[in-house]
Amino acid sequence: MTNREGSLEAPTRHPLDWKSEAFYDQAALDKEMARVFDICHGCRRCVNLCTAFPTLFDLVDNSSTMEVDGIARADYAKVVDQCYLCDMCYMSKCPYVPPHQWNVDFPHLMLRAKAVKFRRQGAPLRDRLLSSTDAMGRLAAIPVVAQTVNAVNKVGAARSVMQGVLGVHKDRQLPDYASSKFRPNASPARSTEVRDGKNTPGKVAIYATCYVNYNEPGIGHDLLAILEHNAIPWVLVEKEACCGMPKLELGDLETVAKLKDANIPPLAKLAKAGYAILTPIPSCTLMYKQELPLMFPGDGDVKAVQEAMFDPFEYLVLRNRDGLLKTDFKEKLGNVSYHIPCHSRVQNVGQKTRELLQLIPGTTVNTVERCAGHDGTWGVKAEYYDNSMKIGRPVFEKMAAGEPDYISSDCPIAGRHIRQGMGEESPNARKHHPIELVRKAYGI
Ligand code: SF4
Ligand code: SF4
Repeated sequence: MTNREGSLEAPTRHPLDWKSEAFYDQAALDKEMARVFDICHGCRRCVNLCTAFPTLFDLVDNSSTMEVDGIARADYAKVVDQCYLCDMCYMSKCPYVPPHQWNVDFPHLMLRAKAVKFRRQGAPLRDRLLSSTDAMGRLAAIPVVAQTVNAVNKVGAARSVMQGVLGVHKDRQLPDYASSKFRPNASPARSTEVRDGKNTPGKVAIYATCYVNYNEPGIGHDLLAILEHNAIPWVLVEKEACCGMPKLELGDLETVAKLKDANIPPLAKLAKAGYAILTPIPSCTLMYKQELPLMFPGDGDVKAVQEAMFDPFEYLVLRNRDGLLKTDFKEKLGNVSYHIPCHSRVQNVGQKTRELLQLIPGTTVNTVERCAGHDGTWGVKAEYYDNSMKIGRPVFEKMAAGEPDYISSDCPIAGRHIRQGMGEESPNARKHHPIELVRKAYGI
């Protein structure tokens, strides 16, 4: 048998076998980690992607045998802890992904290890709080409470206490909570005529996401204004809960399943009624496009939602291809440094945000396609903050190049992280989400 490198066939992703007891068998997991770690040690392509691989290679190089068999099994967790499931090693580097016979799916192996750990030990309070985005948002977005939380988050002494008690790094700039949530304040759609295109349904359902609902409702209002400008009728998804991505990253798969049970029925109803479902946060979009279909491969409703789910820029660019998008932009944007987040890249839809921004006259887009190193909650945690800033450094430098007027990322959390990491560089560059930039360019 030849061990051919790479594959001539398109990569495939196996469903996640998370309901079987074998999935949680520690000895079987350790054996699989030893097998995959050994392949990675011989390959080392991913050394600069994140800190999981350097951690692994340091463990190998400092072991008595200088091979994977010299690493203590207990130290495998050090590699797992450094992985924030961005998926880039699978999508962009690895020549041994299925259908290759070596069957390497590093992110899903890390996810399995996180799930086994969660089943055995649960998670500390800090991780349970940070991953409960909906509950935290509901509480913190109450007016007065929002103002108090926002003020406290900016006080150095309070942040030092928070680091000591909760393990949230004192220097991490946290998003504000809005005192006025998106969903209850979304203006009703005026357009009613449905014009289906070849590539796009003519009516849209908005899955707002916890982040837009509680932290940056302006992104949601801007998206609605863009739809209105293009005479696209829209509805809000009747009821929504967190997509489950923060719980997935924690390995809490049972809670992911509960959130799926809350979200999928109303979403599937809309999908079957011919709506395009737009989700303005890439990680949440990815949850419906990739992670839930892999966790529930036989579920027809999950599949219907997967097929109806669009990144907003994917939808708008396809709408333009259908000849149904207005390009009457009135305001030029100048130099835009645009970061494409990992969870947008792994959706495999190309650089749709860049494509749309480039339609705006007087706009030059400097696209930065590299992991910024924050992830949803990983870069907030005291023990990972320094690594998160280290991983992001090349992105901060590239985003500062060319005297940008705006810096922007589809992931608003990455956008904030990048602005923080840029420090004093490009002090005049304003941080705006791409959806906000498009509204600004339309002059609406
Ligand atoms: S999924 Fe991302 S963070 Fe995890 S090992 Fe791969 S590249 Fe690193
Ligand atoms: S994940 Fe694949 S490409 Fe990356 S180090 Fe391991 S074997 Fe090599």
